[in-house]
Formats: sequence, C-alpha cells, structure tokens
Amino acid sequence: MSRVPFCWEEAHRLVGIDAVHQPIPIRPTVHYSMGGIPVNTDGRVRSGAEGLVEGFFAAGEAACVSVHGANRLGSNSLLECVVYGRRTGAAIAQYVQSRKLPEIDEQRYLTQAEQQIQALIDQPGEYRIDQIRQSFQDCMTDHCGVFRTESVMREGLEKLQAIRQQAQKIYLDDKAKLWNTELIEALELQNLLIVGEIILTGALNRQESRGAHCREDFAERDDTNFLKHTMAYYSPAGIQIGDRPVTITLFEPQERKY
Ligand SMILES: Cc1cc2nc3c(=O)[nH]c(=O)nc-3n(C[C@H](O)[C@H](O)[C@H](O)COP(=O)(O)OP(=O)(O)OC[C@H]3O[C@@H](n4cnc5c(N)ncnc54)[C@H](O)[C@@H]3O)c2cc1C
Repeated sequence: MSRVPFCWEEAHRLVGIDAVHQPIPIRPTVHYSMGGIPVNTDGRVRSGAEGLVEGFFAAGEAACVSVHGANRLGSNSLLECVVYGRRTGAAIAQYVQSRKLPEIDEQRYLTQAEQQIQALIDQPGEYRIDQIRQSFQDCMTDHCGVFRTESVMREGLEKLQAIRQQAQKIYLDDKAKLWNTELIEALELQNLLIVGEIILTGALNRQESRGAHCREDFAERDDTNFLKHTMAYYSPAGIQIGDRPVTITLFEPQERKY
C-alpha cells in the first residue's frame, strides 16, 4: 500500500479484490506493436532503404523510429511519443514554412471518401463489426503470439483471408453522418486487418528468433541473414517484403537475457 497504492486501487476498482489479502488475477496482453510506419528521427516517413516520402510524417505507436529494437522495454513507448512527437511536430512546422500547399483536385478525394462512407452505411451486410474484430483478435492471439512456428502462422494467414472476406459483409446500425463511432470502427477494422496480415507475413519471413519474436522452429538469433529491418509494402495486389540495413553506432546488439 505504501509503494504501489495504484495497483491496489486498480485491482479493487476492476475486480473488487483487496490485494493486501488476495492475489490479483493476471493474464498476458499485447501492450505494444514493434515496428510501424518507418520514419527517421524527425518523423519523416521512409520510402525504402534510402528515400523519404514527400509530405508524410508519423509519430507515436503508429511510427517506427527503430529506437526499441526487437523488444520495446517497459515505459519506453510514452517516452517515445513525447520525444519523437515533439521532434515530428517541430519538423512539420519547419517543413510547411518552405512550401506552398500542393495543387490538387480536392473534389476527387472528397468524392472517393464520400462514396466509401456511403457504401459502408448502405451495405445490407451479415456481420457486426465486433464479431469480426473479435475473430481477428483471436486469430492474431492464437497464430501470432510471442511463440510461433511456420505452420501456426500459415494457418493464421488462411484464417485472416476468411475474416477479410467476412469483413466485406459488415453492417452498421448507426447510419448517422455525425459522431458515428461505429463508422470509425468500421474504417479502423479495414486497416487493422491489413496491419495484421503485414505482421504475420513479416514474421513468417523472419526465420530466426529475436526480441519478442520467438520462432520455435528457428530458436536462435541469426545476424548473418536477419540483422536487418523488415520493410513491408502493401497494395491491394498483396504484400511485398523487402529490407533495410541496420545502422550500428555505439552499441553492438546484444541478446536480452532474463
Ligand atoms: C495494455 C497496455 C499497457 C501499456 N503500458 C504502457 C506502459 O506502462 N508504459 C508505456 O510507456 N507505454 C505503455 N503502453 C503503450 C502506450 O500506451 C502506447 O504506445 C501509446 O498510448 C500510443 O499513443 P499514440 O498516441 O501513438 O497512439 P494511440 O493512443 O493508439 O492513438 C491513436 C488514435 O488514432 C485513432 N485512429 C486510428 N485510426 C484512425 C483513423 N483512420 N482516423 C482517425 N483516427 C484514427 C485511434 O482511435 C486513437 O485514438 C501500453 C499499451 C497497452 C495497450
């Protein structure tokens, strides 16, 4: 109670337990996604091993500055949000000073977005968003947990294809155009499924164990073949996997042992 009173409070608030007298039930959960949109230390998005994508910035958990290696240490993601969020904001502010807004046909993008939203609202559908998201979460938990093998992940990819088919047939109860959180969930779901497929494909390709990626079929770290960043490119035609070299400066990568 004197050192971690908030733990007692949480256990009491969530499950009604007095942690001074009773053990707190615990279970593992995902608390971070290693990887993300590849960026440099100013939040500018990388297009590949060398180039940058014009006018595209990312920060926070969506981004991958590559400060965490293959296993993000506890409490470092909020630190990352603060440090690189600030740097990225400053870089954007500087970037816009020296550029004019590009001339684009706004109407084209507006029409596309309106059509996408209207189609989601109108479609009759068979499945609720929650059902699909739950199947997706179960699929990732069962087939892309910390300990994985090729066969387990291949099975997961097959399941994911089936879930993506079902996700085409969702329906929305809320048809409103304002403050429609169900619509946001529907849009997020489409992106989640793509990210899930990218994670599984990248993990399948990496035939070694490193950080939180423990391949039971490739138990050792293999620096000769895999000391490199995975670069995954998505298009509706499929996912392409490439790589980018790791720049080693002061510290040689070391295995983290518990
Ligand atoms: C269980 C758990 C425990 C954790 N514990 C710790 C810890 O102890 N210490 C630590 O440092 N970190 C911890 N983390 C990680 C940390 O909480 C996250 O890395 C951090 O909150 C990410 O912040 P963010 O702003 O980048 O992203 P988020 O907080 O995920 O914000 C992204 C926002 O974008 C919105 N969004 C998504 N798609 C769209 C779209 N298409 N259009 C518009 N909006 C969209 C989402 O709804 C969301 O609000 C933990 C995470 C979890 C899940």
